[in-house]
Amino acid sequence: MKYIPRLVLNYTVYAFLFMGAAVLAGRAALNGRPAGIDAAPTAEVNGTPPPQIVIDPGHGGEDGGAAVGDTLEKDLNLQVAGCLADLYDLFGIRSEMTRTDDCMLYDRFDDLEDYRGKKKSYDLRSRLRIAEESGAALYVGVHMNKFPKESSKGLQVYYSPNTDESAQSARIIQSYAKKYLDPANERETKQATSSIYILKRITVPAVLVECGFLSNPEERALLETAEYRQKVAAVLFASTAEYLNEIQKGR
Ligand SMILES: [Zn+2]
Repeated sequence: MKYIPRLVLNYTVYAFLFMGAAVLAGRAALNGRPAGIDAAPTAEVNGTPPPQIVIDPGHGGEDGGAAVGDTLEKDLNLQVAGCLADLYDLFGIRSEMTRTDDCMLYDRFDDLEDYRGKKKSYDLRSRLRIAEESGAALYVGVHMNKFPKESSKGLQVYYSPNTDESAQSARIIQSYAKKYLDPANERETKQATSSIYILKRITVPAVLVECGFLSNPEERALLETAEYRQKVAAVLFASTAEYLNEIQKGR
């Protein structure tokens, strides 16, 4: 089933669009060129400029990710990611999604006869390969968290240990989440351990955003609403636009 949420503008999203527009306007003014241009340092492929951001909605298909009741992580990931892609489109930032429908990516590149027992590892390899071949300025993995302790909540950003820009972008995203999503969120960015396959191996700047805890009833209820998912996407949009701005200025 193909499912790409289209952006439904409401007042919350307008507020964030103004925030993003302010960031981008600052960029354009500083650089004397339209926003969204030249942030990615890589060469064109077949005349098409590379995406500046690769958005990777985690899981999909037979891999539902974290599940609580009828709520599956893979669906929320795709909805947040689709909204984020719409926002990039709107502001002329080139982005690419690793998946736009409900599927795993194990057979995207490799011609295995039999994927039994290998689907998850080939799925992750494909996502890594898409990101590596993109030449993007940032890979953003979109996930939802789950923890045995119900009280755990709040957006959490992990970053790749392989590039300084990964930590830099993670800091910006985490600070925007505190400022615009939940001022009570005291979480700090975390460097990915080897348990996070893609972040450990990837050589383009990369973060993985756990948007919230499905195991926390309050946060799950929020994440189940389109309005809150748009808000999360808007925070990811504005913070990553700020990151593109910073690397363009060489900070
Ligand atoms: Zn996940």
